[in-house]
Amino acid sequence: MLTHLLFTDLAGRLRKVTLRIDGDPLLLEGLETIVDGSSLLGFLRVEESDLLVKPVSSRPIVTGYVEGKHFISGLYKDKNTRYNKDPRFVAERLVEYLKEVELEARVGVELEFYIVESVESRLTPVSQSLNVKPIGEADYPQSSLWFVKTYDSPGEDKVGKLLGRVLAELERNELYFSKVHRENGPRGQVEVSTPAGTPIETADFVQHFKYMARVVGGREGFRPVFLAKPFPDDYGSGMHVHVSLWQGASNIFEEEGKLSDEALYFIGGLLEHARSLAAFTNPTVNSYRRLVEGFEAPVYVSWGLGNRTTAIRVPTQHQGRVEYRPPDPTSNPYLSISAIIMAGLDGIRKKISPSEPTSRNLFEEAAGWGTGGRVLPRSLEEALEELEADNDYLQPVFDRELLESYIELKKREAKAFRSYPTPVDYLFYLEY
Ligand code: GLN
Ligand code: MG
Ligand code: MG
Ligand code: MG
Repeated sequence: MLTHLLFTDLAGRLRKVTLRIDGDPLLLEGLETIVDGSSLLGFLRVEESDLLVKPVSSRPIVTGYVEGKHFISGLYKDKNTRYNKDPRFVAERLVEYLKEVELEARVGVELEFYIVESVESRLTPVSQSLNVKPIGEADYPQSSLWFVKTYDSPGEDKVGKLLGRVLAELERNELYFSKVHRENGPRGQVEVSTPAGTPIETADFVQHFKYMARVVGGREGFRPVFLAKPFPDDYGSGMHVHVSLWQGASNIFEEEGKLSDEALYFIGGLLEHARSLAAFTNPTVNSYRRLVEGFEAPVYVSWGLGNRTTAIRVPTQHQGRVEYRPPDPTSNPYLSISAIIMAGLDGIRKKISPSEPTSRNLFEEAAGWGTGGRVLPRSLEEALEELEADNDYLQPVFDRELLESYIELKKREAKAFRSYPTPVDYLFYLEY
């Protein structure tokens, strides 16, 4: 029987090691294997690089596309000690931390992404080219804003069919989405929402979803693209995170159909830490290409009721939850969801009152008037500098070594990009 152990690296990528074992893995005591922790960026040095991988979920995932059973797994230093930089362990610690103060977080995400036919990238020393072929060769003029496809109902087209296959694989594992629809981007953008679950359930769903989309795509001839901004003139993909906090059966964010003081302080905490949070919610160089005006992605540190130009939106008809809009699907879901909740809790602890909500269209106003002019970071490097200066609020659940390694890893990534000419460099500067 093939048994696939799935775990997540610091950057958020799902990793897999496959074991061939006799018998049913569920009945097997002590199912585990050793991996090379020095080959996983930001983890261990090669001189002491052994890590154990063991299932942490007893719910195996199966699919008609890959033989065997898949298990979400944790990383361990030794049999009984979790590895301090395992990102899933951060989310597990968060849940424990909340339990100590008798709280539970319910989290849902809206995962946006593009389904494309192929991605071809050719890198040579003198020129680079990247060729992304949208399904059906959707060739739209420079600004595709006239061709917004949100809630499109094209019938049985290829994007719908392919997405349906991915969702069916998840359904058979009782991993249910709550809502799915076409998103704005005309080149095959879709959105899948999760029901409200624990931070761990929701982050696991994201990892399962991405894995399944790749596996199904490999067979059916498509690529899911989770980049925050795959096309320059088109909508980016976000991963909005919805949070509510519960004490038993009562939602502490809601009081008589309106936002409670706790909810307002939670928003205050998010606004306070939004700039350092970006290092987790917007963790790639590409992430910052999405945070520009005009594409329903946030630019200013701001909040509003039913306002999709702000970083935080409180749904007008559900004033018992908070939507944090900056995150994108390149973020490590365990880390970004945990960091968001820690920022909000800090607001509650310190009673940080948020600024006034804004009902203006911030994309149309110079420098985000009424937001105090605070903008989200413009680059990964800026976000990392913010995180270096502002991380006390994360300390209770984020291990210090994890934070240091994360910052170092992402700094190296940003630096590598800075020295790398892109196709656009040539487009703009070849005539100079
Ligand atoms: N795609 C937008 C973003 O980047 C969101 C669009 C929407 O959900 N209304 O966040
Ligand atoms: Mg949505
Ligand atoms: Mg959306
Ligand atoms: Mg949303």
